[in-house]
Amino acid sequence: MESNLTELLAINPHFSSDETDLISRAYEFSRKAHTGQSRNSGDDYFSHVFATAKILAEMNADAVTISAGLLHDVLEDTEVSESTMREQFGDEVVTLVSGVTKLGHIKYKGVTRHAESLRKFFIASAHDIRVVTVKLADRLHNISTLEFVPKEKQQRIAIETLEIYARLADRLGMGKMKAALEDFAFPFAHPTEYAATKKLLDDYTNLGEEHLAKVSATLREELAILDANISSLNYRVKHLYSLWAKLKHNEYDIKKIYDIFALRIIVPTVGDCYQALGIIHSLYKPLPGRFKDYIASPKPNGYQSLHTAVFDGQGSVVEIQIRTDGMHKDAEYGIYSHVGYKETGGSNLQKQNSKTSWTKELLEAQRDLAHPEDFLKHLKLDFFGARVFAYTPKGDIIELPKGASTIDFAYAIHSDIGNHVFGARINNKMVPLETEIKQGDIVEILCMDKCKPTRKWVAMCKTTLARSNVRKYLREHGSIIDKMLLS
Ligand code: MN
Repeated sequence: MESNLTELLAINPHFSSDETDLISRAYEFSRKAHTGQSRNSGDDYFSHVFATAKILAEMNADAVTISAGLLHDVLEDTEVSESTMREQFGDEVVTLVSGVTKLGHIKYKGVTRHAESLRKFFIASAHDIRVVTVKLADRLHNISTLEFVPKEKQQRIAIETLEIYARLADRLGMGKMKAALEDFAFPFAHPTEYAATKKLLDDYTNLGEEHLAKVSATLREELAILDANISSLNYRVKHLYSLWAKLKHNEYDIKKIYDIFALRIIVPTVGDCYQALGIIHSLYKPLPGRFKDYIASPKPNGYQSLHTAVFDGQGSVVEIQIRTDGMHKDAEYGIYSHVGYKETGGSNLQKQNSKTSWTKELLEAQRDLAHPEDFLKHLKLDFFGARVFAYTPKGDIIELPKGASTIDFAYAIHSDIGNHVFGARINNKMVPLETEIKQGDIVEILCMDKCKPTRKWVAMCKTTLARSNVRKYLREHGSIIDKMLLS
């Protein structure tokens, strides 16, 4: 692959000359640093970091993130020191690169429980959301070249990609990243299931496409007559991994999956979405129970659209998704659909986003900020701020809401432990039971058989789990007064 700076810069023409300069310097620096190194594929090592930066640029990442993408393997794999990099590129770039380097040292061990822990650790370690973004781009390029990795490592990397990276991308609303990670990983993670799913889909494709073409042609006409409101109308063949996930829940009967072939209708405004829906339902009979209004009630990751499935009158069912252009960008790029807002000023993008986006409140908060660059920092607080990750002395990760106490921690491990707490050490120091646990604390719970929950504990718990366990214990074993107070 040709690794060309002009090509990289052309992706984001809105960058200022300072930003362009930063990316150009990172490009040259990284290319020199990686000289002589090559990938398993035989390509120059630099082609990997270039590809990573290109993925970031296409996601609309800021110039610092793109530069960090170019430099992300320099500290790990070359002689360049952190202080040299700091001199050349400043604190922000170095923080991102060293964050990515640290994440690289976490190894996946294979069992489901560990995967969950690792995912949490991943989130806890990422003090800047942009670190995760670089890591996702890095992984996307690595998984797309997985065929060159030694056979015995392929499956582990593929499963790790599905279990951790794709889920994280989903949580960040990066639908395009999630789908790409899954589809590259699927054949290596579950080869047999991949082959079966692919065959099922291939056999089904011809049939489905014919039906879809007819509905599509009709809608193009009907919706055009209305108000020429269609921005685009595309076929969407369901990507294989999510098809497999759905097949598992539907007895592997492909006829039960209605959204293999879907029409996506993009219209200018929210009002147009509902109007288009009305027209479609008057033309085709909707399938009961299949209409979903994710515009009024967005999914937890912010996804917005109207979904419906209709009978096409030829014995087939077609799923239709209706959304605005702003919602469409959100669904593809997640948080990064809003970066670049500063540069686009009063454009349509801003208008659509301010009306429809899932980060509406954050955008409003951003307007009050002196520096729009702080946008990502705010988002980071919102995303990582609500949870605390603490560790047992053995290194297991316990996830708690902010404000949780050592009693919450004890019950999070096991109700038997919670029911016999007599003391706690945080970072090797004895602390009162009501002590609030902070990010990264190592918490050791001391138990004694004769120690029992008391009424005071109820107020010392933050989690429902701990509180309901304490109440349950008092109801069953407490004094008459306990029972009266709890009834
Ligand atoms: Mn890398």
